[in-house]
Amino acid sequence: MTFQDFNFNEKLLDGLDSMGYSKPTPIQSQAIPLIQTGKDLIACAQTGTGKTAAFLLPILDKIINTPEDKRRLNTLIISPTRELATQIDNQVEGLGYFIGVSSISIYGGGDGAAWNQQRKALEEGAEIIIATPGRLIAILQMGAIDFSQLQHLILDEADRMLDMGFYDDILKIIKHLPLQRQTLLFSATMPPKIRKLAHSILIEPEQLNI
Ligand code: AMP
Repeated sequence: MTFQDFNFNEKLLDGLDSMGYSKPTPIQSQAIPLIQTGKDLIACAQTGTGKTAAFLLPILDKIINTPEDKRRLNTLIISPTRELATQIDNQVEGLGYFIGVSSISIYGGGDGAAWNQQRKALEEGAEIIIATPGRLIAILQMGAIDFSQLQHLILDEADRMLDMGFYDDILKIIKHLPLQRQTLLFSATMPPKIRKLAHSILIEPEQLNI
């Protein structure tokens, strides 16, 4: 299988070239066509398998088809840690370079300057927000994000988020999102608590186990 098989826009194929990704990993081969159908997905996949690009590529490919002046906040990615949020953001910037996609990562810690920078970036708008749960809740309480046009929600490393005690925060965040959206849940393990979370936020999901 090659990246051409997904009918991606040329600009996205250029982004893949520039990142040096020459062929899809197994999770990418399996997840991308499912995500392209618009269905919800629950995927059991470890870090290092290429899971980040598996969810980013079909989303970036959709964003390309929206003229730049009509683009609104389209995708929310929730990640357990600042490090992972930053890594995801780097892949968005690399893969999305030729699309001109804008993304912001929002996380706690850091100094006031970082906080002010994140708020300023939010005011300017972005198509993709990558956030840790605690900081996202703080921002939601300020009413600073308009989620009305959101189309995709991704929960990355969901098991780690639950281990860190974010179950209730995740449910609280989801109450602010449109009901009609595509939700993708990635987790390295599938304990009963993840199944329960999936049951309450996904609709008839496809399932993958890599
Ligand atoms: P992840 O599992 O998303 O954390 O990705 C692990 C690493 O694999 C990251 O450094 C990616 O940049 C890289 N990667 C993802 N997809 C591919 C691919 N198709 N070919 C080569 N490297 C990749």
